[in-house]
Amino acid sequence: ARRKIIAGNWKMNKTPSEAVALAVELKPLVANEDVDVVFCVPAIDIVLVAEAVKGSSIKVGAENMYFEESGAYTGEISPAMLVDAGVKYVILGHSERREYFGETNEDVNKKMLKAFEHNITPIMCCGETLEQREQGVTMDFIRQQVKVGFQNVTADQAKTAVIAYEPIWAIGTGKTATTAQAQEVCAGIRACIAEVYDEATADAIRIQYGGSVNAATAPELFAQPDIDGGLVGGASLKAEFGKIVNYK
Ligand code: 13P
Repeated sequence: ARRKIIAGNWKMNKTPSEAVALAVELKPLVANEDVDVVFCVPAIDIVLVAEAVKGSSIKVGAENMYFEESGAYTGEISPAMLVDAGVKYVILGHSERREYFGETNEDVNKKMLKAFEHNITPIMCCGETLEQREQGVTMDFIRQQVKVGFQNVTADQAKTAVIAYEPIWAIGTGKTATTAQAQEVCAGIRACIAEVYDEATADAIRIQYGGSVNAATAPELFAQPDIDGGLVGGASLKAEFGKIVNYK
């Protein structure tokens, strides 16, 4: 059985001092030995949050990363910097990065390969717009995101990866996908991984749902056979995140 992974994506919220306060507040609330719990925080908060969660099993993640080792890339953050700061996971290809910062599937693929090279576990995001859903091209679009995102990623690496299915129309809108919609696409993503790799890889990879997850919707979503946890935005900034982690 796959271990559940529930990650908070703090997005562009919390100054360093606010981030420490939130991490300290959430630390006792998110204790759950059966679940991998990750706080994905702004780069400037990583060092302090890593320090604040010491002594717990909470892991710290980044929200983005550049695909070069080092050098003249003003403003970017390298994989080695993240590792040295205590990062274990990195969100790659979030829809907000694709939409506002022009990230392509090819960029995401370069970042995926770099993350594996540095033993950082990628949480690769995919998901359709409302228009695409209405046109019936949801799975075609997502299959493309997954196939290009995982290009040249080995099966052994893919087994350790996390994919987050986040329908864009459900992000920050309060409109959670129905449990059936979320399960259907997550199963489709797993089938795509089986097609690209094999059944063993599809069976091992963890697939999260994200988009307006809250304490009320988490239990049913996380009980689905192909949903291995969640990527939580708004509700990860509140005590409610403790309820989501302890959804059972
Ligand atoms: P919300 O939970 O705020 O809808 O955000 C989802 C998300 O984008 C997580 O990456």
